[in-house]
Formats: sequence, C-alpha cells, structure tokens
Amino acid sequence: MAELSPRMRALVQPHLAQIEPYDPAFAPCRINLSANENTYPLPPAVRAAVDEALVATPLNRYPDPMSNDLRDELARWHGVGRENICVANGGDELIFNLMLAFGGPGRTLTTCPPDFSEYAFFASLVQTPANAVFRDPDTFALRADVLVRAAEGSNIVILTSPNNPTGDLAPLELVERVCRACPGVVLVDEAYGEFAPAGASAEALLDRHRNLMVLHTLSKAFGAAGIRAGYLVAASDIIDVFAAVRQIYSVNVLTQAAALAMVRARDAYRTTVEAIVSERERLHAGLERLAPRVRVWPSTANFLLVRMARAAEVRRRLRDDHSILVRDFSASPGLGDCLRVTVGTPEENDAVLAALAQILDDLTEEER
Ligand code: PMP
Repeated sequence: MAELSPRMRALVQPHLAQIEPYDPAFAPCRINLSANENTYPLPPAVRAAVDEALVATPLNRYPDPMSNDLRDELARWHGVGRENICVANGGDELIFNLMLAFGGPGRTLTTCPPDFSEYAFFASLVQTPANAVFRDPDTFALRADVLVRAAEGSNIVILTSPNNPTGDLAPLELVERVCRACPGVVLVDEAYGEFAPAGASAEALLDRHRNLMVLHTLSKAFGAAGIRAGYLVAASDIIDVFAAVRQIYSVNVLTQAAALAMVRARDAYRTTVEAIVSERERLHAGLERLAPRVRVWPSTANFLLVRMARAAEVRRRLRDDHSILVRDFSASPGLGDCLRVTVGTPEENDAVLAALAQILDDLTEEER
C-alpha cells in the first residue's frame, strides 16, 4: 500500500500527512497462514444454510441499520438483551468507532503492545495520544501494576484476550482492576476468544463493571473473515454511543443474512474449534522440537508466535521456496526476529513444520 504523494501530503489534515497504511503484506501462496483466518472448510450444513439465506435476501432495500435479527440471536447466545449488542462491519469498525467516540486530541488511549497494531493506527487517525504499557520483553506477560496506574489517567484502555500476536490471556482479576481504575471505558478484545479455555471471557464481569465492553468477530472461529461481521457486548448506554456514531448502513444485507445463519448454527463449529485447538498444541510441540533454534510461546488462540535468528529471511524462503505465507513481525517493537504462524489444517501444519526444519538446516549449513 502506497504512502501519500507529496501533493496529497500538503492537502490532507496535517496529522494524516505521515500516515502509514496498515499493510498485511499479502502475497498469493499455496498455504496462507498469515492472517489468523480459519482455514477449515465450513461445515456443509452451515454453508447450505448460508447459501439459502443469501438467495432469499432482496438486494433492492437498504439494510436494517442495527441488524436487529442478528442482534437478537447474538443476545440469546450471550445471555444479554438486544440493547447490549452492537453489530459492525468487522471488529475493525468497532475499534475505529471506539476511538472516534471516546478518543480524540488531548485524551488518552492505553494499550499493551506488542498487540494488534490497528489500535495505534486508528488512534492516530483521530489524533488520540497512545500510551503504550509494554509487556514483559521475555514472557510478554502484562505488567499489571504499571497498567493499572496508566488506566487511572486513561479515557480508553484496550486489553486483548487472547492477545494478538503473543497468544496469552488477560487475567480476569487484572481486567477488574483496570475497570475499577479507569475513569473512561475498557475494551477487552476477544476476537480469538472461542479458542481460549472456558471461563476466560471478560463477559462474566459485565454486570459488575459498567465501563467494560467485550469485542467479538465472526472472522476467526466462524471462518467468516470475508463477510466482515463483528460485534460488541456492553452496557446499553455504551451501545447507544456506538449506534450514534456508526455509518448507518455499514453492515450490508448479505452479511446480516449470512451472519445470522452462521450464529444460529453455532453448535456446528464446536468440532472445528476443537480441531484447531488440538492442532495448535501439536504445532506447538513440533516447533518446540526445533529448539534451541526456534522459541515458541504458549498460545490460547489460533496462532503461535515464534522467534528465530534471521526471521525475515526464513519468512521469505517459506513464501518463495515453499509457497507458505506467515506473518513477519520482526520489524515491530518488542518482536525482533518474530514470526506469527496461524494454526491451519493438519496438512498445512505438517507442511510448515517440514519447510521450517529444512530452511533452518539450510541456513545452518550456509553459515558454516
Ligand atoms: N481484534 C484482533 C485482536 C484481531 O486480530 C482482529 C483481526 N485480525 C480484529 C480485532 C478485527 O477482526 P475483524 O475486523 O476481521 O472482525
């Protein structure tokens, strides 16, 4: 993605002149394990239900702005009311609207990098100063006391659980401390929540903490990144804010219909999620066998973070010699020599392990 031309740099709002667009560094490959998508086929019955719903959807009318049928189904699932749910065009839209509504110049967002880089990017679009409470450089554990102190002066705090790209959970006691300390709002981003152990969700705290909101997406466990559907669970007056600032028709009729069919069929995904979790552990064990050349952190999500010497070169060889795409984080602060590998199907994971072993052997040989 291109940076702005000198001509445009002079014309856009000054704070946007140096903007660096989010770049997922996509390249067409045989095996794409770079974006934490679900690479398993949709359960056939779910795909049939989605197709039927799409065929029955008229295209000539504007969508229901608030996606109320979908909201009702999500509310039943999460044990809340319709008024506690806001649906959006992906979780990304909710994160942007969070900054738009609660951020802005002179206000403060606190995040815990290394985390999802879109937080800082969206904050910069609306001139929200970001206060980074970096994780422990070795374990990536959250620094609880520093975070709680930072929360005391924040308008927004974002915790990611499981965190992208480090894979760890935000402990619920810490989420509670942050909610109590923060005079503003606290987002717990649970985009990967379905892959985490039961009982890890901050949703259990919503009744006690009225400034808490929990973000979900259909892009990961539901295998629906292409339809762009995310949602927020929160107190009704928080949802009213999101309803007020959103683009009214951002969730199109096809997305609403497909998402409703998928959420209705939520039980059918259990097998896939269990398969991904067990493949995650198998891939983790396989990567550990490459130690000490590779370090891998434990993960509660559908990806693993790995560190190895010459990571950028390893990623290049995976892409160019094996047609396997993984994500290179080696240039990100705190993530030197790190790659992130999405957990794929057993065949995809075997291919990554074999290719990595070969590349590491070749590199060792070349260095002799
Ligand atoms: N939060 C986190 C932590 C993510 O990794 C992602 C996607 N990569 C999102 C939110 C947004 O997901 P989407 O917009 O696809 O719903």
